[in-house]
Amino acid sequence: MHIGFIGLGNMGGPMARNLLKAGHRLSVYDLSTTALAGLLEAGAQQSESPAAIAQSGVDLIITMLPAGAQVRQVYLDNDGLLAHVPPGVLLIDSSTIDPMTAREVAAAAARQGNPMLDAPVSGGTAGAAAGTLTFMVGGSEADFHQAEPILAAMGTNIVHCGDSGNGQVAKVANNLLLGISMIGVAEAMSLGVALGMDANVLAGVINASSGRCWSSEIYNPFPDVVENSPASRGYSGGFGSDLMLKDLGLASEAAKQVRQPVILGALAQQLYQAFSLQGNGALDFSAIIKLYRQEH
Ligand code: NAD
Repeated sequence: MHIGFIGLGNMGGPMARNLLKAGHRLSVYDLSTTALAGLLEAGAQQSESPAAIAQSGVDLIITMLPAGAQVRQVYLDNDGLLAHVPPGVLLIDSSTIDPMTAREVAAAAARQGNPMLDAPVSGGTAGAAAGTLTFMVGGSEADFHQAEPILAAMGTNIVHCGDSGNGQVAKVANNLLLGISMIGVAEAMSLGVALGMDANVLAGVINASSGRCWSSEIYNPFPDVVENSPASRGYSGGFGSDLMLKDLGLASEAAKQVRQPVILGALAQQLYQAFSLQGNGALDFSAIIKLYRQEH
């Protein structure tokens, strides 16, 4: 299949590489020449703009952009995708953005005869490289089935979450919980250690008890509890605190639209905001435990 791919950053770059490995032909575009270079080396063809991608005879276009503003720009601008793509070409946005923007862009695509799916991912850069991402997909059942074999080249868990925007709803709800649970684990681990317990023994007890969760078991924020976790390598790599802050912001914006309280989410957002202001935005999000501990 001939696929257009826009946004070749930390996630989009390895995702596009996996499409090439699966034998697809790729036309690619990114504002950054550095991001482009790796893909051209791997065998993709360069396009000069979203409009050029739209007109290059592609069967399908995937976008993986930072946030809603860039998604609007790439799809809705005068020289963007929708102004130039032939009807019938399937559009898939894998960026993490607010569900309202996802629905608005998909409705604009539908008005001119282009099916569109929102398909945000979880699994991080390691999952993108290994082709083991989870895709949370919003859109029609028929479009989902058309996209499934393509997404399977980049992920192992591909879930249809319902109508347009529901992929983003799933992503926002999951990351809201993740941000809150990480702070909860950081608080409990710090308290236990301050009261005299060994961090590994405490984590073992929690992980065999009712406090157990992904943040305590797989991604414990206390150093040297989980081998190879960001906490065990100075909070480098992983999922940046500023990205968690962005996702908590998406949750609180979406919640406002439906007057749904996100009380712990708002608190988590403020804690990550303070943490980011202190210059920690690039550290993995588990580094939020630094708010609870003296530096050693
Ligand atoms: P990134 O900043 O590394 O990559 C984004 C790419 O988009 C960059 O190469 C940038 O040059 C390009 N870009 C920006 N504006 C553009 C435009 N107008 N036209 C063309 N290219 C443009 O970001 P990332 O880490 O790859 O994340 C992408 C999305 O995936 C985000 O929405 C993020 O929240 C989400 N996400 C990231 C992770 C992660 O661990 N990094 C995990 C899950 C989801």
